[in-house]
Amino acid sequence: MSHQVLQTNYNNTNRNITDIYQDIGVCVKPYYKPRLKLFRSLIGNTVTDALLYMPTSTTEVFKINELSHEYINQQVIVTVTIDNIELPKYSSNKPILMLGHICEKAIELLFFNYKPSYLKGIFYIGCKLQLIGQLTKSNFGNYQMINPKKANFKTNAGIYNIYPLKNGVTQDCIYSITENALEILNSYDIKEWLPEYIINKYNFYSFYKSLVEIHKPNTNNISLINNTYRRRICFDEILAEQIAIQINKTQESKCNGINGSITLLKDFIKTLPFELTNSQVNAINEIINDMKKNVPMKRLLQGDVGSGKTIVAILAMLYVINNGYQCALLVPTEMLARQHYNNIINYLNNISVEILTANEKGKVRTRILRGLKDNTVKIVVGTHALFNNKLEFNNLGLVIVDEQHRFGVNQRLSLINKGNNPHILSMTATPIPRTIIMSMHGDIDVSSIESKPIGRRDIITTSLSLDKINELISAIRRILEKGEKVYWVCPLIEDSEKLDYTCVIERHAFLKQYFGNDVEMLHGKMNASEKQQIFNKFNSNNINVLVSTTVIEVGIDVPNATVIIIENAERFGLAQLHQLRGRVGRSSLQSYCILLYDKHCSNIARQRIKIMCHTNSGFKIAEYDLKFRGGGEINGIKQSGMKKYKTFDYNNIEDQNIINEYIIEANKLAKSIVKLNSIALYSDCLKIFKPNFSLNINKSF
Ligand code: ADP
Ligand code: MG
Repeated sequence: MSHQVLQTNYNNTNRNITDIYQDIGVCVKPYYKPRLKLFRSLIGNTVTDALLYMPTSTTEVFKINELSHEYINQQVIVTVTIDNIELPKYSSNKPILMLGHICEKAIELLFFNYKPSYLKGIFYIGCKLQLIGQLTKSNFGNYQMINPKKANFKTNAGIYNIYPLKNGVTQDCIYSITENALEILNSYDIKEWLPEYIINKYNFYSFYKSLVEIHKPNTNNISLINNTYRRRICFDEILAEQIAIQINKTQESKCNGINGSITLLKDFIKTLPFELTNSQVNAINEIINDMKKNVPMKRLLQGDVGSGKTIVAILAMLYVINNGYQCALLVPTEMLARQHYNNIINYLNNISVEILTANEKGKVRTRILRGLKDNTVKIVVGTHALFNNKLEFNNLGLVIVDEQHRFGVNQRLSLINKGNNPHILSMTATPIPRTIIMSMHGDIDVSSIESKPIGRRDIITTSLSLDKINELISAIRRILEKGEKVYWVCPLIEDSEKLDYTCVIERHAFLKQYFGNDVEMLHGKMNASEKQQIFNKFNSNNINVLVSTTVIEVGIDVPNATVIIIENAERFGLAQLHQLRGRVGRSSLQSYCILLYDKHCSNIARQRIKIMCHTNSGFKIAEYDLKFRGGGEINGIKQSGMKKYKTFDYNNIEDQNIINEYIIEANKLAKSIVKLNSIALYSDCLKIFKPNFSLNINKSF
């Protein structure tokens, strides 16, 4: 049937393939048309969307002549003779029951949520019908089928895809749509865009053949890892992405190269209370070299917690200001903003620096905005408040984003757009695998701070069962006697900020019995100025034990805090434990991390705690995290711009090796395509996978 519908509309050949980027409506059979809206919300608007709508599994349907145990729980096609029909007496929720037989064996058919009148039109006593559905066994051991469907002439034994469904669209509709979409695709002359060496290397089939095999499978292999056809399409999608990234790079807008003397910078470095590490020196050199060019820098500064990224940022800003430009430092939390602000005014005491958060209101805000506009303010440190429409710069030269994974692409863009293509430096303590960076930005430049400042000692991490909590009191006392400080982090209770905070209150009361006024608490329910007050007290040695929720997780730097106790450590993920642990070990003093755990916690949680006790390396921890949780911390990265691909899921651990290899291969190919200017060959591929790509979207960072 579908063939006829299509033939009337699509019997020309020689069409441009880009025409398949047309409305999905042309794939939908007349009797499904009323559901067009639903299809669009599920699949998309175009024929291409239908072609790229991937099944998640397959099922095999068996045609059987006789009932037998081996087919229990399988999808079967059977011919049933109906012997009896029982309609429930009252309009109740009870199913309609029919009894029938196949050869000599009895079977029960149960119909839930069907109108009797509808079923009566299909079934009657004595009729013989072909039905399709899952064969099961009732509690009494009888053969049974629940809501079987009448098989039509097209229903055959074989392998069927299962597509993800919602919105009341059925598998049958999807089969029909994809079949029609394939017909449309087939009516065009599709030239192979992949070079021969790639096809041979991976044993790929053509684009068309691959899609046919995906949508009309002959084997049960659906996962990327087992399925050559699926892999071909994934490769194409990754390639299209990489080509787009490379085209964007060539179109990059120009900016003002910041060329100036570094004498002032060198003098300043001499005044620092410490020697920069080699990694820090390299990073700042790389950054300055980038900023000299008249293409905007897009560099990622990656370094484990406590490795000293902030001073690198300060040096970069100083260079920019010395050459007449302004800087913005974007951070995710208000507390971190204040800390950076204090740090900067401490180091750069003759430069005009302002802080802008939700708390700067009224006259203060007006004054800051004016200063930024007339270039009297040189540096602004701020939270989301920096996205404010009214904020304008005079000549923004550098945007620094701390803990970049906490911001979305659009948020970062809204700040970047306030300048004339400013240079951008992102900083992160979360090690991001190279392939993920590549899939977001192509091969973006990365500076890594690998060594920690000299004299740092590894944090000693131990675990202790929660019922031994009292043993900690004397240990804390010894630490306080040395003039050092303690963080006590209370558990994260998922989805319940309220409970998190109850726990802080309880623990605070408990510790107060021992340490009196030396203890304070900090939690998300406090307002910003309360938080800041407590934090200042901790920073200035007025209190020495801080009971807190995870609000201290990001970036906080109090060098003489040397102990962090994490209660119910089993509730935290590895990445978060590592971030929290990074609050100590920020000076040459020996620091400790104590993980308190519930004895009854799961094995996986125990394993995480063990890993924490064995390694201090953020990179190792990120690796484990990937193993345990698939994407792990990469979830954060997903928000920040890891695209949701149509044809695969990056977080599928099994497929990750293949995807990573494809990203690297596709990146190489894309570069040569753009370099040789053979983009035209790939225009179909680009149109299909990146229909919205236009040649002037270039600010992807
Ligand atoms: P992060 O990389 O986690 O942002 P910070 O920049 O906050 O780390 O630095 C952690 C601490 O190390 C800060 O107190 C900072 O002053 C100090 N620090 C940074 N660089 C050095 C260095 N080269 N030698 C000694 N201490 C340093
Ligand atoms: Mg930091």
